[in-house]
Amino acid sequence: MAEQPVYLDNHATTRVDPRVLQEMLPYFCEEYGNPASISHSYGTRAAEAVEQARQQVADCVGASPREVIFTSGATEASNLALRGVLQAAGAGAGLVTDAAEHRAVLDPARKLKRQGFHLTVLPVDATGRLDPAQVATAITSETTLVSVILASNEVGTLNDLAAIGAICRERGVLLHTDAVQAVGTVPIDFRSLPVDLLSLSAHKFYGPKGTGALIVRRDRGRIRLVSQIDGGGHEQQLRSGTLAVPLIVGFGAACQLVQAEREADAARLGSLRDDLWRRLQQELDGLWLNGHPEYRLPGNLNVSFEGVDGDALLAGLKRIAVSSGSACTSHNPEPSHVLRAMGRSDTLTRASLRFGIGRFNTPAEIELAAAEVVETVRRLRGK
Ligand code: PLP
Repeated sequence: MAEQPVYLDNHATTRVDPRVLQEMLPYFCEEYGNPASISHSYGTRAAEAVEQARQQVADCVGASPREVIFTSGATEASNLALRGVLQAAGAGAGLVTDAAEHRAVLDPARKLKRQGFHLTVLPVDATGRLDPAQVATAITSETTLVSVILASNEVGTLNDLAAIGAICRERGVLLHTDAVQAVGTVPIDFRSLPVDLLSLSAHKFYGPKGTGALIVRRDRGRIRLVSQIDGGGHEQQLRSGTLAVPLIVGFGAACQLVQAEREADAARLGSLRDDLWRRLQQELDGLWLNGHPEYRLPGNLNVSFEGVDGDALLAGLKRIAVSSGSACTSHNPEPSHVLRAMGRSDTLTRASLRFGIGRFNTPAEIELAAAEVVETVRRLRGK
């Protein structure tokens, strides 16, 4: 078999940690009970496993287990948050969000607008950050919900959710955040963060694909949410359907590992990322760092390369697996909406690479990646 390219696309998805897989395995062929069918021990053991995972997920983000609503992932969680809150508020309700959100927020937001709800999409600055003052001006008497991403999946920029949340509290509106990319490396304390709803997804931090959660605050009165999937009343009537026990067990295990290893992972990833950036800068000119130089994810490096064709660049990189823009929309050849929102030209946006460094990357792989990029860019630039 041909040698596999070095995987540097950890924002798109991560490899399941073998320790997570070990925890999941018994739940396929041995402990296969339905947690809603508890008239026998198969069901009760499955229910116990789900509740243990619920506790692990809650602990990982500083929430309480009753605030965890399991979903199929973050797309579903964010759909439930946006549609659920606005539909509960009824006709005339409004949503404020920003142009650098993931499509899992922007697409339902636009659909809600077509259905008659009010929508404001705020601009971001050149680093991809949303200015909290903009949120303050955008909130009107119609606004019910603000939705702001915690960490960008494209450029790694971190938003100031404490400031944005304080404004939302003061103005009496709810705040949802897509925390998908942050969970693995940024400490999150839902108890102290002024956020009401938070989306997360296991496959972004070494858990399985197809499971995630919406955290719904319960300590400031009940948030009114309209369920989007009905049929059995699972998950506090908010998300019906038989729970995906093996995936949920893996989600819990991945959360437990994050809690134990987040700090060390973040430090290691940050130093690998800095090493990659240093190597590229040493050998190449005409580089543009995309994202905030300080408020950023440790494992993210997003760079635009002057003087190269973006498609040729991606196609030329045979020894590494990276993406340009968001992998979640890579079937769409449009340049990244996030880089565009940050004011990058279309040419530079197309000639950008997103390196997503993860738990399993080694210093030797980073060295190889830098050499591969330098060689390819030089070849394409004809020097
Ligand atoms: N939000 C962000 C920031 C993401 O990076 C992704 C990745 O795909 C999603 C949402 C969607 O998550 P999921 O794959 O769990 O639906």
